[in-house]
Amino acid sequence: IKNGMVTKIHTRIRTDPFTANYDLVGKELGRGKFAVVKKCIEKATGKQYAAKFLRKRRKGADCRMDILNEIAVLEAAKANPYVVALHEVYETHTEIILVLECAAGGEIFNQCVADNDEAFTEKDVIRLAKQILTGVAFLHRNNVVHLDLKPQNILLTSARPLGDIRIVDFGLSRRMDNITEVREILGTPEYVAPEILNYEPISTATDMWSIGVLIYVMLTGESPFLGDEKQQTFLNISQVNVDYSQDTFEGISSLAIDFIKSLLLKNPRKRATAEECLNHPWLNPLPHPHSHPHLHTRSAASLDEPETSQSESEPESPA
Ligand code: ADP
Ligand code: MG
Repeated sequence: IKNGMVTKIHTRIRTDPFTANYDLVGKELGRGKFAVVKKCIEKATGKQYAAKFLRKRRKGADCRMDILNEIAVLEAAKANPYVVALHEVYETHTEIILVLECAAGGEIFNQCVADNDEAFTEKDVIRLAKQILTGVAFLHRNNVVHLDLKPQNILLTSARPLGDIRIVDFGLSRRMDNITEVREILGTPEYVAPEILNYEPISTATDMWSIGVLIYVMLTGESPFLGDEKQQTFLNISQVNVDYSQDTFEGISSLAIDFIKSLLLKNPRKRATAEECLNHPWLNPLPHPHSHPHLHTRSAASLDEPETSQSESEPESPA
């Protein structure tokens, strides 16, 4: 068993045939390295789900423990609405099938790379970032690190109108309690933190780096570290070579840039935590009990100055 894995699960693993209880419908919802995800309908209820088919043997190795770890993490996070819900688990000779809540809006990846009219606005990103951070703060409070946060693993309940986020793919997740070191480069090159490249200890801050990359991509449509070659990407990451130019951030607030800068820091100890991010002024345009009063220049100024129209703050409304 690898470092930080949990394999004690509470969900009953069913061995009766999946197809006795579900009809597969439509084409694939998506696929990753070792999994295919298909839409299905539960016969008994008519409800729609996403079935993730995981091969137990990968490259000749038995990976059942990895899958049990993925299930255990989903169980640990089931109280949080922004983590995809696990409905049932089936096992055959070759596969384990996770029956998951269906996130019908697909990957946020699609909107990240979309043209202007389909792309996220900053206001969208603020709302979605709060949800991602709420989910990740929950995981971190429960000593779980995701280790593969990227636009392909953040889904939407609906795309148009823009729904809510669901975090998926806990295949690389670990418990922080008994994790000491990583010996392999986990995750997708573009999104991995410098400490992973340097084989240094991973921590909840490792996820926070990936969230910095994620928010950068959601706002600009550009991947901050992506190079032509893998080696160039790794070099860009270890040098924290990031473009914060006006050109790239056209029409995006300086608070957003400040937010990203608090995450794309080489030293993991200096990075903002998920809780700190939730209190960042970028995500809290209105006076907020948990945020720092001096950062709200508009409300501070309005005490001794008449209201001016140059303020960019939103009108007061219940959050
Ligand atoms: P892998 O571990 O192979 O990357 P994922 O869990 O990330 O597997 O699933 C692969 C893809 O399938 C995702 O990127 C997404 O497009 C789709 N997918 C996964 N889970 C769901 C779900 N619950 N609802 C809808 N689509 C999903
Ligand atoms: Mg994935």
